[in-house]
Amino acid sequence: LILQEKDVRISKLRKDLASLPEQRTRLLKQMEAIKQKALAAKQEVAGIEKSIRDVEAAVETKRSYIGKMKTLQSNTRKNEEYQRCIQEVEKTEAAIDALETSELELMERLEAAKTDMEQKIRRVQDAQRELEETLARFDRTAETDKELLNQLNAERADLAAAVPEDSLGEYERMTRSKGVPVIVPMDEKGHCGGCHMVITDNARMKVLGGHETVYCDSCHRIPYRKRFQERRRDCHEIQIGRI
Ligand SMILES: [Zn+2]
Repeated sequence: LILQEKDVRISKLRKDLASLPEQRTRLLKQMEAIKQKALAAKQEVAGIEKSIRDVEAAVETKRSYIGKMKTLQSNTRKNEEYQRCIQEVEKTEAAIDALETSELELMERLEAAKTDMEQKIRRVQDAQRELEETLARFDRTAETDKELLNQLNAERADLAAAVPEDSLGEYERMTRSKGVPVIVPMDEKGHCGGCHMVITDNARMKVLGGHETVYCDSCHRIPYRKRFQERRRDCHEIQIGRI
């Protein structure tokens, strides 16, 4: 059980260590998505700014056309041409009005888009800072976990040396196929701590006896009498308390 306790810790540490690169990748992807949103917001602002410039250029072109028409109007001697110039000027002025209305709408959209962009840029900055902190923490965790793992492995080797070879061989075969834990507590109602099925009466008596190795019929793990272990642990704690 003491050896198994080490193995459970070793197994958990290994899993934690192995999950770090995956977590790192996930965070980097999230960061990329946040950056993309800010980029899209920047493009939206740039697009609206370009539309405004286009509208202004169109207004400019129409104004110079009005200028030309007015010059023609004052120079012409033909009544028909004179009338046409007046019509053209009116028509173009109406078009300029419409353009200026659309420019105002664009200005409003631009303001909203800029606010949105600034928010998203701030979000990128915050997320970047958070990410760097998290990745640094991952590095520190990986380092301490590796040190702890080495220490646990050394302690485990010492413990394993004290376990009879047959038992150790069997235990290791079981952990290879089932993973830890393979020695599991049986509760008071006789449930296996591994698969939670009820252990047969015969086997249960043997578990309670505590003198032979019994296997759970369902999952083939080794149940042990939980109360006995707990009592021992309690005693141990009381002793520590006294010290
Ligand atoms: Zn079982």
